[in-house]
Amino acid sequence: MTYREGRCDANCAFCPQARESTSSSDRLSRISWPDFAYPEVKAEYSVLPSFSRICIQSLNYPNVIDDVLFLVQEIRSVTDTPLSVSIHPLTKSNLQKLRDAGVTNIGIAFDACTQELFDKVKGKSRGSSYRWGLHEKALNDALDVFGIGRVTTHLMIGLGETEAEAVEFLFKMKELGVSVGLFAFTAIRGTALEKGEGPDLGSYRRVQVIRHLLHRDAIEWNDLHFINEEVRLKPPESELREYLSSGVAFQVSGCAGCNRPFYNERPSGTMYNFPCPLSEEEVQISINESGLWP
Ligand code: SF4
Repeated sequence: MTYREGRCDANCAFCPQARESTSSSDRLSRISWPDFAYPEVKAEYSVLPSFSRICIQSLNYPNVIDDVLFLVQEIRSVTDTPLSVSIHPLTKSNLQKLRDAGVTNIGIAFDACTQELFDKVKGKSRGSSYRWGLHEKALNDALDVFGIGRVTTHLMIGLGETEAEAVEFLFKMKELGVSVGLFAFTAIRGTALEKGEGPDLGSYRRVQVIRHLLHRDAIEWNDLHFINEEVRLKPPESELREYLSSGVAFQVSGCAGCNRPFYNERPSGTMYNFPCPLSEEEVQISINESGLWP
């Protein structure tokens, strides 16, 4: 994660890095990111090739693109490991600069699944320059520059959306060619949403299932129906269970190779996103938690 004195210029209601947050400034979600001078970081670069993926998470501040480009060039001088950048909406020419420097995947986070919710938690109502339409444009530009399969967004469940809205968002992103990394809302002290609660686990499991089946091209919109805003599936249970039997649906999602351990969950708490392959028993429990086939 990039570092600056102070906080991010954006003001996302759930984020410890937000401009108006009073959280400990080394946090992102529930993880602490201690700051190191760059030479200390570079001294450890020999470990980079052992990772499946490297990800640079950037805050929003003037000229952050220069910091990110510097890091990308430095990393590329030692390894060709897949390299993701998670960043705010950029101009197409800056997206191209990242691509030319060796970034393989780009993430631009919507976080909220409807325009109204977006404005409320990270846009206009938060005094931030983020706008739904600008995020949409940036994702489209990113698709032009990086191509389908290399552009990701984030969807956070538990911000006040309905399950149906979350599922509609997944289909919209699928149609655009953008893959979705799922996050469970995590209340962090000092943020505007510090008193919030994590999402209902059954609902989270169903959204995970839909995300996974969509990613595998196993369902279409007509395969869904909704009961009181909760999603249900029409195709035969046996067929869909087969797609879920690997447990991948319930693991951390986003770019290939990312496991983001315990980002939203305490190791002893509700395991919204498993950071490693699930045991057969965990797969069965997770499918049951979805409540799709009582
Ligand atoms: S842009 Fe990212 S780092 Fe900045 S406040 Fe929003 S979520 Fe936090």
